[in-house]
Amino acid sequence: MISASILQGTELAIEPRYQAQLDQLLADCRAQLVAVDEELIRKAFRVAYWAHRNDRRASGEPYIAHPLAVASLCVRHIGLDDVTVAAALLHDVVEDTEVSLDLIRDTFGDTLAGIIDGLTKISGAFESRALGQAENVRKLVLSMASDIRVILVKFADRLHNMQTIESLPKAKQVKIATETLELFAPLAHRFGFFALRSELEDHALRVLNPEVFDQIVRGLREAKKDRDAFVDRFIGPIRDRLRSDGFDFDIYGRSKNLFSIYRKMKRQNKPLEEIYDVFAIRIVLNADGKKGKEDCWRVYSVVTDLYKPLPERFRDFVSVPKSNGYQSLHTTVLGPEGRRVEIQIRTREMHEIAEKGVAAHWKYKEGIGRSDEEMDQFLNWVRELLEAPKADHATEFVKDFRLNLYDEEIYLFTPRGDLLTLPRDSTPVDFAFHVHSEVGFHCIGAKVNGRMVPLSHRLNSGDQVEIITSKKQTPNPDWIKFVVTQKARSRIRQWINEKRRKAAELGRDIWEKRSRKADLDLTEAEMQRIATRLRFANTQQLFYEIGVGMYDVNDLVNFARGTRTSETPEVESVQDQYESFLDTAQSSGSPALMIDGELHTDIATHYAPCCNPIPGDEVFGYVSRSGAIKIHRVNCRNAPSLLINQPDRIVPVEWSRQKDVQFVAALRVVGEDRVGILSDITTVISKNLKTNIRSITIASEDGIFEGTIVLHVSDLAHLRRLIDRIKRIEGIHGVYRFEQEVETG
Ligand code: MN
Repeated sequence: MISASILQGTELAIEPRYQAQLDQLLADCRAQLVAVDEELIRKAFRVAYWAHRNDRRASGEPYIAHPLAVASLCVRHIGLDDVTVAAALLHDVVEDTEVSLDLIRDTFGDTLAGIIDGLTKISGAFESRALGQAENVRKLVLSMASDIRVILVKFADRLHNMQTIESLPKAKQVKIATETLELFAPLAHRFGFFALRSELEDHALRVLNPEVFDQIVRGLREAKKDRDAFVDRFIGPIRDRLRSDGFDFDIYGRSKNLFSIYRKMKRQNKPLEEIYDVFAIRIVLNADGKKGKEDCWRVYSVVTDLYKPLPERFRDFVSVPKSNGYQSLHTTVLGPEGRRVEIQIRTREMHEIAEKGVAAHWKYKEGIGRSDEEMDQFLNWVRELLEAPKADHATEFVKDFRLNLYDEEIYLFTPRGDLLTLPRDSTPVDFAFHVHSEVGFHCIGAKVNGRMVPLSHRLNSGDQVEIITSKKQTPNPDWIKFVVTQKARSRIRQWINEKRRKAAELGRDIWEKRSRKADLDLTEAEMQRIATRLRFANTQQLFYEIGVGMYDVNDLVNFARGTRTSETPEVESVQDQYESFLDTAQSSGSPALMIDGELHTDIATHYAPCCNPIPGDEVFGYVSRSGAIKIHRVNCRNAPSLLINQPDRIVPVEWSRQKDVQFVAALRVVGEDRVGILSDITTVISKNLKTNIRSITIASEDGIFEGTIVLHVSDLAHLRRLIDRIKRIEGIHGVYRFEQEVETG
């Protein structure tokens, strides 16, 4: 907890000028917000004051000036609620001082802590070097900010940083200004913060193009007297008519956004004089709802009675608002001396939305949705709100306000700062295949934000992902289980199929050589018949099993020599055979090693090296040509083909409860290649669990090590204990029961 004396301010010597600023802030809150918890704001101020007590801004002034200014911008520009103001005061505390997020949570509760956490994370997103991918960065920011107030404070923070940008080195100014123009201004527009947007743009222009900025400012200033006089002359008749018609309104000449003048100069390739010669007038009506809308049109007809409109410049955003909720009538008329005047006509509520954007109406809304479509629905709702009576319970509705835009996608950075979009729950393997198939085929590990993670790790928006590859690595069929992208899944499948195809080719070569020696010359049709009679699905499957050594080519030669029957037996459904076998294999509880339900101590048994079964595994026996029985796990990758294609060679086997028999098991261990990790592993295995190691092979590359450990264990429970313990070693990402890859040569 932060000490009570700080929370109450008794131990803090607050400088009078900051105390005065706090008082002003509180006064602004009382004036602008519907309800204010003043103590919350005071408490947030004291914590911020205390936390930043030793910090200074680039300008040299005490740091607290910044959060105070940001808080005040939040009230003036956004005017949402007291929690936003408190968050603004605390926004840099977790990132820049020793005050932790937990401390904030303890002191201020979950909501405020959640906003501060969002702010800390989001600043990372903006740190990215992904300029030129502004749309994605915008989505990234929205996907990270589950509470809309995170974005509000971030805007205010950025605005104050732009206002005070001059104390930074020039290079940094340019970077921040570019970012502001590419990321913040469009985002502000999306939310309908027009005033904030144009202020951000003007500051950016001053940094990025000081000559043009000065030229525009000077041009506007020189012409000011003339312009003011003209505007007065223009407004006079309108004001008189509207008054006598009984309207309640404000009319004024509005200064144009400097940046928009600059943009017009560039776009229309016109000199400054021609651009700023366009005058701009705004009429704001104090009328609500339906009547307000109708009044806009009535005012429009008064104006166009007095001045001739240019029809091609008319825009009706009252009947058809912009997607961000903006409503206004726009028209351009010819004023005295033939000068053009742009006129905006809107109601007070439309004006509030135009200035403060969606924020003006968050007060009334409980939550908005996930997709662009729902965002549009929300904005539609904002429009409807214009016709509804004003509600005034800001904080109640804001409490549960959640912004869950774009959470079906995540936004990830490459080490170079490029931004990639992937579906939610994507893993480093998805990322690798997205970058390039070759990267996917050889990925062995990944660093996320500089830290090693397993390949099955779920990535989050904003992560920077570095894929580590090894030429020796090949896709693991297990990857299929955790990848989420279609591309990764289909490429891994393709690779597996390709591997099978090559194995089948090899098998065919072996057969052809062997059959020539044996003077057998069989047609493709005869081969197909033989494959069917041997219960292979097709010749491809037969050759595949020869290729990987699962089926002996000599058996095939013998079979081909001995039989010429064209009768093919009825084949039971492959799936049925496998499942009925699993049923029998799963029955257990016998006290001794049982082969085919009987005790046979005289039959030689071997444990298949492809799956290294140990007591506790579900197993089956495969009778080899020598009469010995090979024991396979039922989930051995070779099991389905053995069970299905050579059912007469299969015998059910169950484990006995023999003591002191050691079995060979192999583990694959993946982790960080840190000093001492190998000795940590061997210590756990041999000292703690008193297990004999038969061999260890280690390969390490780019900070990842991958090891194969062959051990002697008594049963499955023993092996599981080992896996558990090794997993707990620091830096270990994965421990897997080893299954030998099918060798294809
Ligand atoms: Mn800040």
